[in-house]
Amino acid sequence: SIPLGYFGGIGRAAREGILVKGSNYLDTLKEASIVAFDKTGTLTKGVFKVTKVKTRNGFSEEEIIGFAALAEAHSNHPIAKAIREAYGEDINEAEIVEYEEIAGHGVRARIDGVEVMVGNDRLLHRFKVEHDTCHVRGTVAHVVINGKYAGYIIISDEIKDDAPLAVKELKRLGVKKVVMVTGDSRDVAEEIAEQLGLDGFYAELLPGDKVRVIEELEAEAEGKVVFVGDGINDAPVLARADVGVAMGALGSDAAIETADVVIMDDKPSKLPTGIRIARTTQRIVW
Ligand code: ADP
Ligand code: MG
Repeated sequence: SIPLGYFGGIGRAAREGILVKGSNYLDTLKEASIVAFDKTGTLTKGVFKVTKVKTRNGFSEEEIIGFAALAEAHSNHPIAKAIREAYGEDINEAEIVEYEEIAGHGVRARIDGVEVMVGNDRLLHRFKVEHDTCHVRGTVAHVVINGKYAGYIIISDEIKDDAPLAVKELKRLGVKKVVMVTGDSRDVAEEIAEQLGLDGFYAELLPGDKVRVIEELEAEAEGKVVFVGDGINDAPVLARADVGVAMGALGSDAAIETADVVIMDDKPSKLPTGIRIARTTQRIVW
């Protein structure tokens, strides 16, 4: 017997720009009781802009932005893009002798004999560089030049226009808990969680930590756990959750491939739309 109703459900979802990769995911979506959103690119636009540069130890703003842009030349992270944009000049890649990107930390590079590091507290802690502790609105990228703390760059992102609606609608549909998981700092996470009225957040997570958080949520959930993400690092989490939902427009190929559901226009409010469609899809068995 073929549950024809599901084809109807998948079709209705598709017309809303929600790609559901199998009828079983509609069943699971119906029972969503915890929703965990990734932050960057999922609840926020993922379009970062440099909003401030703070210099330390005699370095200039130009040096900080210039060296940081070179060090970030090969990174696809939104932070890297923002720094390159702030620099605004062409980058001579021949100058970059060595380059390493450390997931959840930042980058290290050697540029014409100058050692440069750009990243978060965790990166500097790992390489034992003393730095400022910042409590600011925005993501902080510390810059280290030849082992010396040179200052930090503040990069800000914006909440997507429909993110508040997404959270409100999920609650209205009876989802018990809406949380955010992020590799970003507690300060940034707390501010966004407050603005969106989230039930909680998990910050400063490494890619592997996100999987563990989903497992914890699955253990406590009475229904199903939905994870929504967009990045390459999110693929294992998308695979682990009861339903993995990826952002389709700006999302990474790995995320889109691994996901069970893809939101084509990257709007988080399409998740409650999908749940509503799943719930109103009649199971008609012939
Ligand atoms: P999220 O998508 O939740 O921001 P990521 O794992 O992509 O999580 O990044 C976590 C943190 O690691 C970032 O907020 C940033 O502090 C640091 N980071 C990662 N990549 C870079 C990079 N290329 N340059 C500077 N910092 C980075
Ligand atoms: Mg992300």
